[in-house]
Amino acid sequence: MKMRSPTAFLREEYEELVRNELDWKIRVLQGPSTPWCTVEGKKVLMFCSNNYLGLSNHPKLKEAAIKAVQTHGAGSGSVRPIAGTMDIHVELEKRLAKFKRAEASLVYQTGFAANAGLIPQLAGKGDLIISDELNHGSIIDGVRLSHAERAVYKHSDVEDLQRVLEEAEKHQPPYRRILIITDGVFSMDGDIAPLDGIAKLGAEHGAMVYVDDAHGEGVLGEGGRGIVTHFKLSRDKVHVEMGTFSKAFGVVGGHVSGSQDLINFAYNKSRTWLLSGSHPPAVAAACIAAIDVLEQEPQHVQRLWEHTRYFKKAMKDLGFDIGNSQTPITPIIVGESGVAKKLSARLFEEGVFALPIVYPMVARDKARIRTIMNAALTREDLDFAINAFEKIGKELHII
Ligand SMILES: *Cc1c(COP(=O)(O)O)cnc(C)c1O
Repeated sequence: MKMRSPTAFLREEYEELVRNELDWKIRVLQGPSTPWCTVEGKKVLMFCSNNYLGLSNHPKLKEAAIKAVQTHGAGSGSVRPIAGTMDIHVELEKRLAKFKRAEASLVYQTGFAANAGLIPQLAGKGDLIISDELNHGSIIDGVRLSHAERAVYKHSDVEDLQRVLEEAEKHQPPYRRILIITDGVFSMDGDIAPLDGIAKLGAEHGAMVYVDDAHGEGVLGEGGRGIVTHFKLSRDKVHVEMGTFSKAFGVVGGHVSGSQDLINFAYNKSRTWLLSGSHPPAVAAACIAAIDVLEQEPQHVQRLWEHTRYFKKAMKDLGFDIGNSQTPITPIIVGESGVAKKLSARLFEEGVFALPIVYPMVARDKARIRTIMNAALTREDLDFAINAFEKIGKELHII
């Protein structure tokens, strides 16, 4: 009898994904992620990147990256704790802490690496992690790496969180530590976590509060400082503010901000930080330049919000279901996944690049196109997109 190949499952599982239309069809950008970009030979309006402020092509960021290659080389040569910490990495952390108005900041390779590295160190055996049911996958994986017990509260439901905390207080033996984790902005719906209520409950129950503000930075709060500034919360109530340079900052890299105690603990304990190479100098330099731009050019964040209001109003007036977003993420909810896929495909033909989000990423009857606003777009660009949505929305009997 012929033995079954030990790798036969690779093709079988892939084919199963294709059969169920759950495989990723990767679209390739030919050139930069600009408002009008070339995707598979077609010029389209970018409506789904996380490059909220257009910073990934800002001349100051590009110049800083090029200069850092000349002064510091292409790579860092090591992991941060051995020989991979350059002056430029330290400068970035100082600048970020100042921008965040925190005592200190620590930069990781990515946001995913920050969550996967830090969460399992903050809570372990004998501890409890309480997580919003819609938290990002990198939080979920960070929690899975921890030996702590886990509890989930209903999405953004402060009362349910209180119930979980009260339950936790009865636990015997008492939990050593309790860690509450939430996304700041939820990426599928664009809603903002009730961080003020969460922080208040955390303080009442002696729990740590950890917010992942990947979609809030560069977007929310004064000058795009993020959700902690948005709610004007004290750092003794929100202990860990985690974020990323890969979205509004336009580059790549994760980070956490908080007390000096947090940062000393984090870099000595996070395995992702200790065991994986540090950023190339160009990345660190571009991130510093992104902070410069946020501090010196407030117009980008302003434009992002002007565009967001304009687009949301137009889409609502046309009769689209745009959900309950409070941010530049605007879902266009159409119901069935087939309709969302058709809408996305037709939009692409008409020159608008926006991807469908379908089950299992969202509920079966909540398939949508997720649009993300970009400050680098013009009013004419927005009208172009709105007209395309109107035309195809009518064609597919969505509106
Ligand atoms: C994008 C995202 C991350 C991951 O950030 P990267 O820096 O791209 O790894 C983490 N958390 C949330 C909520 C995100 O949206």
